[in-house]
Amino acid sequence: MDDRRVCPSCKSELALSEFYKEKTNRFGIRAYCKKCTKEKFHKYYELNKEKIYKKTREYIASHLSQHKASQLRYRELNRDRINKKSSEKRIGTDRSKEKLARRSRENKRLFLFTEQDWKDVVLEFGGRCAYCCKKAKLTKDHYIPLSHPSGDTIPGNIVPACLSCNSSKIDKSPMYWVEEKFGVDRLDEIQEILTRVRNKHYDRVIDAQFNHLGIERPIFG
Ligand SMILES: [Zn+2]
Ligand SMILES: [Zn+2]
Repeated sequence: MDDRRVCPSCKSELALSEFYKEKTNRFGIRAYCKKCTKEKFHKYYELNKEKIYKKTREYIASHLSQHKASQLRYRELNRDRINKKSSEKRIGTDRSKEKLARRSRENKRLFLFTEQDWKDVVLEFGGRCAYCCKKAKLTKDHYIPLSHPSGDTIPGNIVPACLSCNSSKIDKSPMYWVEEKFGVDRLDEIQEILTRVRNKHYDRVIDAQFNHLGIERPIFG
């Protein structure tokens, strides 16, 4: 059959639409299916995160003077426009978003989270706190905390949490904390929802993650 291929990783025979296009490959598609490609990317990223961060920091440090100089030059050339833009920006910004972006920057984590992402994840959790399931004022909580190398501000890691859960969870590992407080079933439900959210935004997020780390996205399959 011409319109189906077997993925060498999961051995399933799948329609061509289940493979990413890759012009330089034989048949114009990647060898591994979309699902396997995603899994491999994710594993690679998670396994190499610390190493990748270290590499990026070294790169930034060695290019810093150069980077600063070009930034200064840019500012000098575009001063009026920049001033106007930032004062416009200041008028209509959401404070909590600003705070989140700053904390992400300080922790060198990726910030890629729009108001639409927030509305979507609140909807996914039925407008309730992801942990205790109560209807309350919802805050943006990092499921994996910012202090952890995987604590990015991205779809799939931000969950709606009531103030009480948010402040009692703080920097704790989500798995142990949720299981201890709300049971293993709730933990499974949360993980399932977050996996769904993550898959929905997969390409956008993984591209940004590699971009953020300053390395090219590796090609698998
Ligand atoms: Zn596969
Ligand atoms: Zn709660």
